[in-house]
Amino acid sequence: MHHARIKRREYAAFTRSTLGQIPQLKSLPPDRMLEMDAVSAVLPFRVNSYITDELIRWERVPDDPIFQLFFPQPGMLDPADLERLVSMLRSGVASPRFDQAVRAIQRRLNPHPAGQMELNVPSLDGEPLPGMQHKYRDTVLFFPSPGQVCHAYCTYCFRWAQFVGLDDLKFASRQTASLVAYLKQHHEVSNVLFTGGDPMIMRTSVLRRYIEPLLDPELEHVSVIRIGTKAPATWPYRFVTDADADDLLRLFEQVRKAGRHLALMAHFSHPRELDTPVVQAALRRIQSAGAVVRCQAPLIRHVNDRADTWADLWRAEVRLGAVPYYMFVERDTGPKGYFEVPLVRCYEIFQKAYRRVSGLERTVRGPSMSATPGKVIVDGVSEVRGEKVINLRFVQARDPDWVRRPFFAAYDEEATWLDQLKPAFGEREFFFQRSLRAMKAAGRSAAYGHRVVPRRKHTIFGHVEWE
Ligand SMILES: *Cc1c(COP(=O)(O)O)cnc(C)c1O
Repeated sequence: MHHARIKRREYAAFTRSTLGQIPQLKSLPPDRMLEMDAVSAVLPFRVNSYITDELIRWERVPDDPIFQLFFPQPGMLDPADLERLVSMLRSGVASPRFDQAVRAIQRRLNPHPAGQMELNVPSLDGEPLPGMQHKYRDTVLFFPSPGQVCHAYCTYCFRWAQFVGLDDLKFASRQTASLVAYLKQHHEVSNVLFTGGDPMIMRTSVLRRYIEPLLDPELEHVSVIRIGTKAPATWPYRFVTDADADDLLRLFEQVRKAGRHLALMAHFSHPRELDTPVVQAALRRIQSAGAVVRCQAPLIRHVNDRADTWADLWRAEVRLGAVPYYMFVERDTGPKGYFEVPLVRCYEIFQKAYRRVSGLERTVRGPSMSATPGKVIVDGVSEVRGEKVINLRFVQARDPDWVRRPFFAAYDEEATWLDQLKPAFGEREFFFQRSLRAMKAAGRSAAYGHRVVPRRKHTIFGHVEWE
């Protein structure tokens, strides 16, 4: 086999309580360690030895993009909050007071962006199905409860709230029974996307219990099974040398033999994640089991906010037989302030990278915002009769009729999210806003017309949601 020369590695995570045991951190100044300790009390932190030994270039820390991607950074918290937590840690304050301060900060960080709880949870016979989301007609998201952690946490994660226990795994589901029942009633669904956390954290025997029921001939309309994962970047051994790696590939083959397509939606943030022999072996093995690897990542300041980085990333993906799929805009949650890039800047980086690559890399779409009404692409900047505008378009929408319709926002160099944009040409609102209001009032999305959980205002987190 290809992987004969790959040395096995046993998975072991470093978290906040073992931060001090990471050998490479020993040379860092004590103040910097205290800051990391403070930030990791608020936001999730978890890395592993593959990341610390093979991905990070320690001589370039703290600017190293992979270090920024996985290690808590002081700029992720408001300076006053950071200062307060650091001084509490320094003076050894009692833990209930510290924990209280931490919770207060977490609640100010908009833990649930984009109306996920409000509009996306489907229902079966009037009962909400909390482990699922059905936002776009063709695709159902499923959150298996044992898949709600990751091999490592990205500093910019938009699902951070569930990893710090703020969420109590509201989204997770224990079994597939309700998924299967829902799918039997919903023949418009052609894709099931397993997501998390990271479903690849599950042992193969557990993952199999979720996937096999979908191969039932009665669910023939489900032609695609997708798995959203960062494991190829954070723990490629999962596919190569872990004890149940071979069994995993057999499960992938089984999906194909059942006449379905398996798409591994791989999260790659930086070309360095594709450099090591073990990730390359992982991609070869996944592909030889008949799965297609499609790649996506958000555009993140300090990590991948340069056009060269993206051009290199897409080229490396194509070279390894993977397909560039989405470039996302960082979502409006958690430490967004530290990582955000204005929409116009995102577009410039995307365009500059896109023009440098061949048609095979141009399967990528972006920069895309996963916002309440749908996935909105920032498609360019134009001038129409003297007015500078931002061109926008849906690639996915709550109402499929909105897809591919161009619309325009007044030019705004600073806006970082859809809710900060104003319609161009003096219009009062964007074309979809009226129907979106109606959906919210009715507590349902248009596409599949099912009553969802009763509306709940999001003001408990002090955040006013768009619309
Ligand atoms: C992105 C996304 C999907 C999948 O959209 P595709 O464009 O088909 O990849 C499905 N559901 C939700 C909620 C999403 O955000």
